[in-house]
Order: sequence, then C-alpha cells, then structure tokens
Amino acid sequence: MNFKKIFTGPLFWILLAVLILLVAVPALFSSAGAGQRVDTNVGMELIEDGQVTEARIDDGDSRVDLTLAESFELDGTEYEDAVHFHFSQARAETVAESIAAADLDGYTDEPEQSNWLLSMLGFMIPFLIIAAIFIWLILRMSGGGSRVMQFGKSKAKMFDKDMPEVNFQDVAGAEEAVEELHEIKEFLSEPEKFQRLGAKIPKGVLLYGPPGTGKTLLAKAVAGEAGGSFYSISGSDFVEMFVGVGASRVRDLFKQAKENSPAIIFVDEIDAVGRQRGAGVGGGNDEREQTLNQLLVEMDGFDANANIIVIAATNRPDVLDPALLRPGRFDRQIPVEAPDFNGRQQILQVHSKGKPMVPDLDLKQVARKTPGFTGADLANVLNEAALLTARSNADLIDDRAIDEAIDRVMAGPQKRTRLMKHHERRVTAYHEGGHALVAAALNYSAPVTKITILPRGRALGYTMVIPEDDKYSTTRNELLDQIAYAMGGRVAEEIVFRDPSTGAANDIQKATDTARRMVTEYGMSARVGSVKLGSGDSSPFLGREMTTGKDYSEDLAAIVDAEVRSIIDEAHDEAYWALTENRQILDTLAEELLRVETLNAMEVAEIFTGVTKRPVRKVWESSPDRPLVVEGENA
Ligand code: ADP
Ligand code: MG
Ligand code: ZN
Repeated sequence: MNFKKIFTGPLFWILLAVLILLVAVPALFSSAGAGQRVDTNVGMELIEDGQVTEARIDDGDSRVDLTLAESFELDGTEYEDAVHFHFSQARAETVAESIAAADLDGYTDEPEQSNWLLSMLGFMIPFLIIAAIFIWLILRMSGGGSRVMQFGKSKAKMFDKDMPEVNFQDVAGAEEAVEELHEIKEFLSEPEKFQRLGAKIPKGVLLYGPPGTGKTLLAKAVAGEAGGSFYSISGSDFVEMFVGVGASRVRDLFKQAKENSPAIIFVDEIDAVGRQRGAGVGGGNDEREQTLNQLLVEMDGFDANANIIVIAATNRPDVLDPALLRPGRFDRQIPVEAPDFNGRQQILQVHSKGKPMVPDLDLKQVARKTPGFTGADLANVLNEAALLTARSNADLIDDRAIDEAIDRVMAGPQKRTRLMKHHERRVTAYHEGGHALVAAALNYSAPVTKITILPRGRALGYTMVIPEDDKYSTTRNELLDQIAYAMGGRVAEEIVFRDPSTGAANDIQKATDTARRMVTEYGMSARVGSVKLGSGDSSPFLGREMTTGKDYSEDLAAIVDAEVRSIIDEAHDEAYWALTENRQILDTLAEELLRVETLNAMEVAEIFTGVTKRPVRKVWESSPDRPLVVEGENA
C-alpha cells in the first residue's frame, strides 16, 4: 500500500478521530469546571474560614468542588475562585460536617446529573467508533459497500432495473444468434400470439461463447427491443455475498420481476453460481449451491404465462450443472461465436460510427487483418486508433493509427484471443479444403455443408458433412469414403506443403478406429471374413487395451493389422488421387477460405462444380466360402 493511499483513505481519518477523542474526552469530562486542586488541609481551612460560597461533595470521587468568594494567594501561587480537593474515606465524615457547619449559600452532596451522563458518553464514544470501523471493514470485505448496505433495507435498489438503450442493430456479425433472440423478443412483446395456440414459451435462454463476442450486448438488445423491465445480475455478485444472501436475493429478484412483467432477468457469468454441484474438493461450496438451488426452484416455480424470460450468459458451458440445461430451464442454448470476415466488417462498421476517418480507409482491409478478433477486440481497435489519432493532434483516423491499434490490441492484455499466424491459417485452409474436396470427389460421401477456418475450442477449423436423411446403418463404401475423407486433410498438407502438421492427429485416430472396426466387427475384410474379434464391450473405466483382450491368435492378429493398414493406405491413395486430380479447385477453395473464413453449402457447391469424381471401387462379390473383392462395375 502506498502512503498517499493511506492518508487519503477514510480509514486514516477515522483512526485519527479516535485518537483525538481518546485523549481529549476524558480530559474534557473528568475534571469538568473544578478549578485548581488544593491540598485537603487547605480546602478544609477555606471552608472553616468562611471564604466558600458554594460546595459540592462528590462521594464517588471522594472530592469536593468549592466556589470561593474571591481568588487568593497561597505559598506564592495564585488560585482562581474555584478549586477542588480530594479527601480520604477516613475523613469523609469530618469533611461533610465542616461543610454542613459552614452554612453555605449553595450546597449539594450529589454530582450533577448532566456531568455524569457526559462522562459516560466520553467513555463510550471510542468503543462506538471502534465498532463502527469494524462493521465498515466487514462490509467492505464482503464486496461493494454501498450495495451491501442496502441489503435488508430497500430491496428495490438491489438490481439494475434500467432499460438498456441497445437494440439488435448494435449487434453485428452475429446473425444466427440475433435471429434466435428475435423470437424471444416476440415471446415477450406478444405472448398472446403464442399462448393462443397452446405453445409453451421458453423460460430460459443460455448464450454461450468466448469472452467479448457480445453475449451481454445481445441480452441488453433483447431487452431494448422487447420493452418491459430488465433485471441484470452477475453470477460473481452472488459469490461474494454474505452467507444465505445469495438465495434470498434470487428469490427477491424473481419476485420483483413477476411484479413488473413483462421482464427479462439477465444472469451474466452464470458459471460462477451454476457450476456442477458437489464438484470440487471438499464437496463444493454450500453457499453457491444454495444459490443455484434457489435459481432452479424459481425457474420451475413461475408458470409459462408469467411473461418472464431468464437469459444467462457464460464462457464455460462445459462446467454448468446439467440441471440448469434441463427442459423448462435453460433449454434454449444459443452459441455466440467469434465473427468471421464479413461479421468483423459489420462490427467495424457499427463501431466506426462517430469516429471520423480518412475517406480512403477500407474497413474491409481492417477486417482482413484481424482474424480471430472478437467484437470486443474490434471495438477496442477502433477506440485505440481514435486515441492515437487524438494524441497526435490529427483530425481523421488513418491506416497507420489502425495498424498500430491492431498491434496494441494483439500484444496488449487481450492475449486470450487466439490469433493464428499467417502460415498456420494457410495450413488450416488447405487442411479443411482437403477434407471437403475429397468428400466432393468420392461417390458415397455426404455433401459438404460448411467449412470454416475459424478456431473453435481446440480445433483450428472444421468441415461439416451432413447426410441428407437420417441414417441408421452405413455401407462398406460409405465407411471407405469416410476414411478417405478423414485422410483428406492430412494428404492436402502433404501435397501442398510437403511438411505435414500435427493437426491431423485426430483425423488419423478416427480413420484407424473406423478401419479396425470394419475388420474386427463389421466383417468387411475379405481376408478375415465375418468374425467378431475381441470382446468388444469397451469399459469406459479401463483402458481400451485392457478390455479388448485378444481372443484370437497371433497369426490372425497380424492379418488384422495388415488389413487395417491396407484400408488406410487405400484411403490415402484415394484422397491423394482426388486432390492432385483437382488441385486447381483445392487452391481456389483454400484462397476463398483465407479470404472469408467460412463457406456455406451453396458457396462450397459453386466452387466444386466441375470436380473430377473418383471412379467407383472394386466390387464386393459373395462366393460360397467367403466374399471376394474383384475388379468390375459397381452399381
Ligand atoms: P461478452 O459478454 O460476450 O463477453 P460483451 O457483450 O460484453 O461480450 O462485449 C463487449 C463489447 O464488445 C460490447 O459492449 C460491444 O461494444 C463490443 N461487441 C462485442 N460483440 C459485438 C458485436 N457482435 N457487435 C458489435 N459490438 C460488439
Ligand atoms: Mg459479458
Ligand atoms: Zn482434419
């Protein structure tokens, strides 16, 4: 702690006040208005000489206050006309008698009432102040003094019940999330429309995604669009409260929302309270669990016509208690992801409002330079650029300011944002392109519905192939296509860079698993035949090696390994063929991915017109002993 802080903080002043009082108060009260002290003998003489006009005996203190007719001098000391003296208990009687005998104008033998009270007060004040400091410290420790002060007093102030002035137009590059939330807005603003048809309006919506992608912003936008009241609370607020307050706050929150419906209750960072119960060392945190339980009780408690919707946001959907995600609670889950190229452009557009820029500044170029940036990062870039421009006394934000701002945001505190280096992006684009192109060139593969090179979770990108109908079984040719498809990413890296990366580990694992199953479970190897090998019921608790104990000979095991290898090698060849044959299309696809990052089914289909298809495979033919794979036409 630095000194400046100590002297300006309230603690210093309070301590100072206590010190002063401790010194001053007793001095003030204990000898109030009593004049100088004289010896007992001198005092007695004064009384007996008749120089005293008033006397007051204080038995408790064994002292006498005297008011004299005039001031006097004794042994060279001047005395005022008021003095006091003390007496011993042995002389108390004599003192009292002398005073009584002196026949004074005023004579009391009780201390003044007010004086007694005052000295009591003087005694108490330091304690009162110490108690006050103590309470103040406790309040401070339990977070947000002012908020906690209101605890128990005025509950209406506990939640921000403000109408955010945000609407959907302020959220850019998150069309899917906005679309879903549009519906929520309608539930709130026109509930009759849905209730008329007996539809149950969802109670809870969970927004999840990386930090800075606009989850809080989206929740505010729903409230801004729907009208009605908006109650906002952060999960971390609950955690730092007194024991038992979390649960009662949740209760109050819902009570208020019901009184002021239509209402949105927004619980930001719900993972702080919504973590899996009973997790963690020592059985978890009771207080947090009570809060979570209360939240669940409240959500179950209000009926679907109450016109309340609870919106929650989290970066960590994986740690949430499954009870939160059950039907009737947060059963709507909306992903909010980092924006792609187009999204970034739109977000830049939104945030460049009110920021004068040089006319030839191209936001498209800025979007291109900022892969992996979230909405918050982009807002930050524009703000930094404006600050830099102002600092250099310029009037318009230019490219140089933007570039420097990008560097700052990248190198600054926002390290959490995952930024891919240029080469890594290229590798990812070719890898994902390889998967997709192999799928397109093969005959039994489902169509590609989406490719993206935006990092997500631990994956650098992903390609989605979705069959048109639900499928309940898979044929041999489809499995072979799946394996070739899995190899496609790796093979593209081999062909283009001649330096494959570790990114294919997962693909290789999947391909190998599928190939092994084909041989040992599905009876799809002509050499091995239709035999089930290995015990097969893999236990999740023990390693695979332990449970799939070999129940077949070493010779057969060698054949199985050879068959698995040959399936993988074949798939590798097929992928290699598909990619070299269509190399130009692969390049176009990768380029396009680097440019826009995400391609949907239609865009992909357009690029893939004119793909050279792989000829069909050898035919699988049944014979009396065993199936054979022969050269020939396949249906
Ligand atoms: P989260 O809650 O997901 O961590 P926020 O909603 O707090 O993110 O976003 C922080 C800020 O970043 C917002 O206030 C807004 O200025 C900006 N921002 C984030 N995403 C977007 C977006 N999609 N469109 C416009 N601005 C955004
Ligand atoms: Mg947030
Ligand atoms: Zn892959």
